[in-house]
Amino acid sequence: MNKIKKTETEWRAELTPEQYHVLREKGTERPFSGEYDHTFDPGTYTCAGCGAELFASDAKYDSGCGWPAFSAPANQEAIEEESDRSHFMRRTEVLCASCGGHLGHVFPDGPHPTGLRYCINSAALKLEEE
Ligand SMILES: [Zn+2]
Repeated sequence: MNKIKKTETEWRAELTPEQYHVLREKGTERPFSGEYDHTFDPGTYTCAGCGAELFASDAKYDSGCGWPAFSAPANQEAIEEESDRSHFMRRTEVLCASCGGHLGHVFPDGPHPTGLRYCINSAALKLEEE
């Protein structure tokens, strides 16, 4: 897979301030504030930074946590996971495999059959509706 490399200046010019904060500065949007928190329209969620396909709407569910939640990525190659020990917590960070943008975290308290909850910032996503 071709990795997308851009300078921080280029990212800053292309992204909205909120997208930049989440994707490039590993920010987190306020809970219940995101555009897709309660969206359940059919479609594909792509990366707001590079357009890579990340999650299918089929995998989205209402976790009540305040951010879009998915039980699985569109495919395992679409995302990368890294251990994150910031904020005195042990979490697993989820990144876009194409551009390295920060998406959110994955937690082991999701629904059957994966048991995973991909807790993703709306600002990192763009829904391509079917
Ligand atoms: Zn990306």
